[in-house]
Amino acid sequence: MKHQILAGALLLACSPLAAQTPVYLDDSQPMERRVEDALSRMSLREKIAIIHAQSKFSSPGVASLGIPENWMSDGPHGVRAEVLWDEWYGAQWTNDSCTAFPALSCLAATWNVDLAHLYGRSLGEEARYRNKNVILGPGMNIYRTPLGGRNFEFLGEDPYLTAHMSVPYVQGVQENGVAACPKHFILNNQEVNRDKINVIVDERALNEIYLPAFKAVVQQGHTWAIMGAYNQYKNQFCCHNDTLLNDILKRQWGFDGVVISDWGGTHDTEQAVKNGLDMEFGSWTNGLNWGRSNAYDNYYLAEPYLKLINEDKLGTKELDEKVRRVLRLCFRTTMNRNRPYGSFATEAHAQVGRTIAEEGIVLLKNDKNLLPVDLSTARKILVVGENAVKRMTVGGGSSSLKVRCEVSPLEGIRHLVGNQAEVTYVPGYESPAQKEQDVRDAREPDHKEINYDQLRAEAVEAAKKADVVLYIGGLNKNWAQDCEGTDRESMDLPYHQDELIEALLAANPHTVVTIISGNAVSMPWVKKAPAILEAWYNGSEAGDALADILFGKANPSGKLPFTYPVKLSDNPAIALKAYPGDGTNVTYSEGIFVGYRYTEKNKVKPLFPFGYGLSYTTFKYGNVTADKKTIAATDSITITVPVTNTGHRAGKEIVQLYVQDVKSSLPRPVKELKGFSKVELQPGETKEVKFTIGKDALSYYDPAKKAWVAEPGLFNAYVAASSQDVRGKVAFTLK
Ligand code: BGC
Repeated sequence: MKHQILAGALLLACSPLAAQTPVYLDDSQPMERRVEDALSRMSLREKIAIIHAQSKFSSPGVASLGIPENWMSDGPHGVRAEVLWDEWYGAQWTNDSCTAFPALSCLAATWNVDLAHLYGRSLGEEARYRNKNVILGPGMNIYRTPLGGRNFEFLGEDPYLTAHMSVPYVQGVQENGVAACPKHFILNNQEVNRDKINVIVDERALNEIYLPAFKAVVQQGHTWAIMGAYNQYKNQFCCHNDTLLNDILKRQWGFDGVVISDWGGTHDTEQAVKNGLDMEFGSWTNGLNWGRSNAYDNYYLAEPYLKLINEDKLGTKELDEKVRRVLRLCFRTTMNRNRPYGSFATEAHAQVGRTIAEEGIVLLKNDKNLLPVDLSTARKILVVGENAVKRMTVGGGSSSLKVRCEVSPLEGIRHLVGNQAEVTYVPGYESPAQKEQDVRDAREPDHKEINYDQLRAEAVEAAKKADVVLYIGGLNKNWAQDCEGTDRESMDLPYHQDELIEALLAANPHTVVTIISGNAVSMPWVKKAPAILEAWYNGSEAGDALADILFGKANPSGKLPFTYPVKLSDNPAIALKAYPGDGTNVTYSEGIFVGYRYTEKNKVKPLFPFGYGLSYTTFKYGNVTADKKTIAATDSITITVPVTNTGHRAGKEIVQLYVQDVKSSLPRPVKELKGFSKVELQPGETKEVKFTIGKDALSYYDPAKKAWVAEPGLFNAYVAASSQDVRGKVAFTLK
C-alpha cells in the first residue's frame, strides 16, 4: 500500500500536470492573481466560514485548498497565553509563557524609532513561534484624559509621536510573516461605556488628532489588518461604520487588508456586510441556540448572512470582497513559505525588553543629584511600596500576560546591589487582593480590611534608619487602576499612598519616589520629593531595568509622551466637562486642543510637560539654523541644531521640533510636534541634529475644503528639549 502511494506520487510528479501548480499556490504570481484564483475555487460555505471566528481567537482557513486557519493573539505587549476554545479562561498550557515587553506607554517614552522596530520584530518572532498569524496591536488611541483605563496600551497624546512609533512596530511585526492589527479604529479613548458610547468629534479634530497615526500605519506601515473599535461614531458602531471603514480607510487610504472586529464589537448582519467589516470575532450569540449547535454559526457574518444570500436579500459582491481581504492575509502570513520560524521567550527578547524599559523610564526630578544612588555611601537601602514586589505583567485586561519570567523591582535592586549594601523591604501599603488566575484578568478587588496606619508606621520607622529610601508605588492594573473595561475614578494615587509618601519624605529626605503607571498621577508631595521617576509597566525585565536607572548603570533618556497635569481639572476633556459623556454621547468639545495643545493655548502650567525628561548628564543646544528663509509649497526646509553633552557621562537626548503657524485663518495650537530625534552623545561630544520638513508639517485640516491646507505666511520652527523648554528658534516664510 505504502509503495503504491509512493509510486502514484512519483507518477504524478513526473506527469505534465504536476508542473502546473495552481496559480494561488504559486508565489511567483502577483498577489491579486492568486487571490482571484483561490476565490474562484471556493464554495459559498467556505467563503462564509473564513470571515468569522471558529473559536475565541481563531477562524477557519480553506481546508480544501490547503489554506491554514488564522490564529490571533493579544497584543500589544506580548503573546497572550492560550485560552480555552470557547472561553476567556486560560487553557493551562505549559509552553505558552512569553516575554512581556514594556507597555506601549513606555515604548512611546523612548522616542526611539529603532527600538519601536525592534519591539515589533521581537514580538512578531514570539507570535510566529506560537503559530499566531495576527498580533492584536499596537494600541494607538490618543491619550485624551489621565483617567483612560487603557492609556498604558497606547502611545501618548500626540498624533505625530504615535504615528512615528507605531509604523516601525507594525513593520517589525510583519517582517515575521505575522500581521499587526493596530487598534482600536477609532475614537476608543475611554473605557466608560466603551461598548456603546457615540463619539461626537469635529471633523478637524478627527483629521488632525485621531486619524493621522492610523493613516500612517496603513500607508507607511502597510499594516495587513486593523481592528475596529467598540464605540460609535456618527451613531454607527465603529466595527461596521460606513464613513470610517469604507470611505476613509478603504477608499481614501487604499487599505487592502482585513478589518477585524473588536471582540464582540459586531452588532448587525446587514451593517457588517455593507459597512466594511471583514472578519467577525468575539461575538457572543443570542443565548438561545448557541448551546445546541456551534455558537459561531450564529455570528452575524455566519448563518444569518448565508440566509440573506440564499433568500436573495443580499448579493455576494461584498462577501467576495471580504474573502479577497482574508485571502490576502493568508498569503501574507500562513501561506508565505519564506517566513522565518520565530523564537520564543529567549534571552535576546528579554534583553530587548530591558533596553526599551531603560530608555523609556523618565526621570522627572532629581534635585541635589540624589540619583543615581551612590553605593559607596548608601549602606542601608530601604525599599518601600507594594509595586516593588507586585507582578505587573498580569492584570489590566486583554493585555494581561503569562510570562516565563518577571523580575520585580525588589529583585532587580537585589541583583544589582548584591552584597554592596543591605537591602530591606517593607510594604508601606497594600492593595486589596486580586484574583489573578483568569487571563482575561481585570483583577477585581475582594474587599479585605487593610490597616494602612500600621503599614505606614512600620515603613516610617524603617525609613528613619536607612541611608536611602526607594519608594516604588503608583497604579497596578487592578480594576480602575490602569485596566481595560473601566477608567480611573480620580487622578490620585490609590491605597493611601500620598500620606505614606509624605510621611516617608518627612522621615528621610533621601527618599526617591518611583511611580509605576501608564497614566499621569497627582503628586501633592511633588515639591518635597527630591527625586521622582515615572517607570511604567515594564514587563519581564522591569526590575532589572529600574535598578539600572536607580543606580546609574543606565542613564535615563525617556521623555513623557503625554502631559502630566497638576490636577485633573487641568485636562481639557475634564475642564470642559467633555468626559465621559451622558451614557449615550460624548462630545470632544476640546476639538484639536488635546494635551499640550490645550495647556499651551490656555496657559495652564503642567506639572511635567509633554516631551519632558531629565538625564544624569546635561545637554547644551547650539544655534538653530535653517537652510532657507522662504520655501514654496513643493519645497522642504532643513533645520539644524548642534547638541553637546556637557556633563560627565554618556547619555541620549531627545531633540524635538515644534512648528508654529504665526497667523492662520483657523485657530491653531501654539505649536505642534513635527519632528524628533534621539541622539547618543559621549561626554563633551557634539552632534548636529537635522530636521527636514515640508508642507505636511505646516498644514491644518480645513473642514470647509475637506482638505489639508498650508497657508502662505510666517512660520516658526522651535527646537526644544520638551514642549515647554524651547532652546532655539528660526522663522521662515511659506510662499
Ligand atoms: C479588547 C481588544 C482585544 C480583544 C481580544 C477586547 O476586549 O478591546 O483590545 O484585542 O478584546 O482580547
